[in-house]
Amino acid sequence: MNEWVGEDFPCLLIKSDIETTNIIWLNPFAYDYLGLKKPVEAKIAKIVSKASLIFYESYIKPIILANGKYLEVQITLISEGGRRVPAVANLTLSDNIVYWAIYVAEERDKLYQELLEARDLLEKKTEELTAVSRKDSLTPLLNRRAAKDDINVLITQSSRAFFPLSFLLLDIDFFKDINDTFGHDEGDKVLVTLSKLLLEQVRETDVVARWGGEEFLIVLYNANIESIKSFSDRLHNAIETIVLPNGNPLTVSIGGAVLEQDELKESDVIAAQLLKADKALYSAKDNQRAHTRIFDKEKGFIRL
Ligand code: GH3
Ligand code: MG
Ligand code: MG
Repeated sequence: MNEWVGEDFPCLLIKSDIETTNIIWLNPFAYDYLGLKKPVEAKIAKIVSKASLIFYESYIKPIILANGKYLEVQITLISEGGRRVPAVANLTLSDNIVYWAIYVAEERDKLYQELLEARDLLEKKTEELTAVSRKDSLTPLLNRRAAKDDINVLITQSSRAFFPLSFLLLDIDFFKDINDTFGHDEGDKVLVTLSKLLLEQVRETDVVARWGGEEFLIVLYNANIESIKSFSDRLHNAIETIVLPNGNPLTVSIGGAVLEQDELKESDVIAAQLLKADKALYSAKDNQRAHTRIFDKEKGFIRL
């Protein structure tokens, strides 16, 4: 008597038995869409995904038994040819029969997927941009601003539970001559080669940055004068393996300062340490270059 109901509606209308989940009736659209043959001898398991079936049994069914309906539930249909299709269903219960009105939600799902993709892309681009904005334009090192950010994090950590930080300013010896003799491009190559070497020599927890021109800043994590001594010995030896086009080894001068606990109170901790390191650097430059000097408030400049 009711056979004409839903005859030409462009949505899926289904009746199923609440207990057996047998499909009792479908409208023509549902027959076509799901690729079923008459007479239908299938259960709900045949037309929804495994996950949707488990969801139906464990969650939807108890709710429709209690409330008589469950509206706008998201399910995955298995359409003709086994294609998985997102859908939204309204379910109502009457005399142990579940009435399903199902709307295919492919477009809505597509939009949602596009939104997810756009969000992922945006996150990736933001990460890339952050990485780019932290990098020096010529070398693989951090730039000045990024280095300050990272050093401030270390200073904050050290203020909570003190550990010494060593600030080392490193300046290439006679770099102007390198440029003048071999050309600016060769000078750039030396800067890049040295930067890579610096990255190889430091630990993950240290900060190494191009501070400007041919000057670099290294902040050694949890390092005192003894640590600077062994680090800088190793570093000077490694840097001298960089050979210039005329066969001469590259050398650098380094000025260092160790951050003492009482200096954490200074208004600009970084600037205060750099001032000391810079004085030590000038002292090294004035004394034949190619070595490391540390600023010490009692002993003056110590040659390492
Ligand atoms: P010192 O041993 O006293 O440090 O002498 P120096 O020649 O290294 O120092 P000076 O300050 O006289 O010269 C530094 C030179 O570094 C001058 C500048 O043109 C060059 N320079 C700065 N930035 C770059 C760069 O990005 N690429 C190149 N190729 N040269 C640079
Ligand atoms: Mg310089
Ligand atoms: Mg120099």
